[in-house]
Amino acid sequence: ETDTGYFVIDDPTVDSVFVPREEFSHKGNYGKANIIGGSYGKIGAVVLATKAALRAGAGLTFTLAPACGYEVLQTVCPEAMFIKGGVDFIKDFDTDSDAVCGIGPGLGTDPETERSFLEFLKHYAKPLVLDADALNIISKEEKKNGLIPEKSIITPHPKEFERLFGTTKNSFERLDLAREKARLLNIYIVLKDHHTQVVTPEGNVFYNITGNAGLAKGGSGDILTGVLTSLLAQGYSEEHACILGIWLHGKAADWASVKYSKEAMLPTDVIDELGSVFKELN
Ligand code: AMP
Ligand code: MG
Repeated sequence: ETDTGYFVIDDPTVDSVFVPREEFSHKGNYGKANIIGGSYGKIGAVVLATKAALRAGAGLTFTLAPACGYEVLQTVCPEAMFIKGGVDFIKDFDTDSDAVCGIGPGLGTDPETERSFLEFLKHYAKPLVLDADALNIISKEEKKNGLIPEKSIITPHPKEFERLFGTTKNSFERLDLAREKARLLNIYIVLKDHHTQVVTPEGNVFYNITGNAGLAKGGSGDILTGVLTSLLAQGYSEEHACILGIWLHGKAADWASVKYSKEAMLPTDVIDELGSVFKELN
């Protein structure tokens, strides 16, 4: 056991992680984010993740989704490029692409989708952001070792965590189990909760203190996936992307709650408030 510990993500930590945009720069300097997800009736999830990836600063943003999402995505997110496929659309991903992939929002669990996602995992070794149904599909697999690329970031809410790794008696046991799994699988686990925790492969735990109960609404997690994918694309390390990403997500939610109330604020408002947060950081 080395010098692992528990840390709070405070303002000085965020300031030390955040990298301001370079004046003499172009879109090539800020990477490619590729959001993969969506299914009939759940295209909204991939729209939210894509919008969040755009607002979090990626140079180029792509969305790989089934064809039924084409018109909506091109209309609502004109800045993103759309790659369409069938229910087995993940097979259309160009594995030579240097884009960073965030997979899961609205993905659904159609057997063809599941098969193409598991096939994709077999051939893909770079770090991914995995959320929602991507995690639910992995949960069904007997053997999780070697399934998730090393250094990936997974973002389970408590129920998804339980499906992945089993039940625990309380949040302390859950955190211990997450530390064990993060180490074993060499991945980053973002345990989403009121105070979300980032668990690193080294066993460190970073507590987030931004965010509020206005986030307790469908669609909030999809935004986090978009933000994390976007930050990784921009060259942040996995650890820094997790720390900055969950802080940004919560802080934008805090701004949204001031403007609209916790009751009325929508995940869409959280995306829009990302700008207020970046202005504070710069
Ligand atoms: P999901 O369940 O995937 O939509 O993710 C929900 C997101 O909203 C996560 O980032 C949670 O940390 C956040 N969230 C949900 N409820 C609360 C709450 N009561 N307080 C703070 N954050 C919350
Ligand atoms: Mg979710």
